[in-house]
Amino acid sequence: MAGVNDFAVRRRRMVEDQIAARGIRDQRLLAAMKDIPRHLFMEQALWRRAYEDHPLPIGGGQTISQPFIVALMTDALGLTGREKVLEIGTGSGYQTAILAKLADWVFSVERLPELSRKAQLVLEELKIFNVNLVVGDGTKGWPGEAPYDAIMVTAGAPELPQPLVEQLTEGGRLVVPVGQRGVQNLLRLTRRDGRIIQEDLGGCRFVDLIGEHGW
Ligand code: SAH
Repeated sequence: MAGVNDFAVRRRRMVEDQIAARGIRDQRLLAAMKDIPRHLFMEQALWRRAYEDHPLPIGGGQTISQPFIVALMTDALGLTGREKVLEIGTGSGYQTAILAKLADWVFSVERLPELSRKAQLVLEELKIFNVNLVVGDGTKGWPGEAPYDAIMVTAGAPELPQPLVEQLTEGGRLVVPVGQRGVQNLLRLTRRDGRIIQEDLGGCRFVDLIGEHGW
C-alpha cells in the first residue's frame, strides 16, 4: 500500500499533468487540489487509482468526477475566498472540499442520504468545517440560505433548473451541465444588471440530476 508521501507525489503529478497542463492557471485552485487527499473520498480498493484522469464509482450508481472536470467547473466560478456557494450533488464530498478551501462557506445538497453521511465523515476528518451538508432535492436549490454568489451542479440536467437561476446574487455565477442523458454541455450563467448571460464551456458527461426540475 502506498504511503502518505506517495499520495502527495501522485497528487502533484495529477495537478501538473492533468490540470495545469490543460490551461488552468488559478494558483489557489491548483494549491487546493495538491492539498486535498482525493483518495480519502473513495473506498480503499480504489485508492491506487484515485489520481487517474477519469471519474470513479462512489456507490449508489454515482461517480466522483474526473479531476480535470472538478478543476474546470471550479475555475469557472472564479472564487476569491469571500463567496457563499451552493453545490448540488455532494456525492463523495471531494468537490465540496475544494470549494470550501476557495470560498467562505459552502452549502451542499445531496439526494442520497448514505452518500451525504459518508461525505460528512471525510470532511470532518479533514477538519473542513465551513460546509453545511443537507439531504434533499437540489433542483429546487436551497431557498433558506439564498442568494448565493456561486452555484455548481455536479449532475446533468435536462434543462436549466430555474430555481437555481433565481437564487443567484447580482454578479453571481451558476455552472451546470445541461443536455441529454449521458452527454451535456457545461453552461455558465452570470446574473448581471438583472439579465442572465449564458456561455457554453464545452461538452461533458455527468450522471442524471434527478428531481422536480431535473430528470
Ligand atoms: N461532486 C460529486 C459528484 C457526484 S455525482 C463528486 O465529485 O463526488 C452527482 C451527485 O448528484 C450524485 O451523488 C447524485 O446522487 C446527486 N444528485 C442527483 N440528483 C440530485 C438532486 N436533485 N439533488 C441533490 N443531489 C442530486
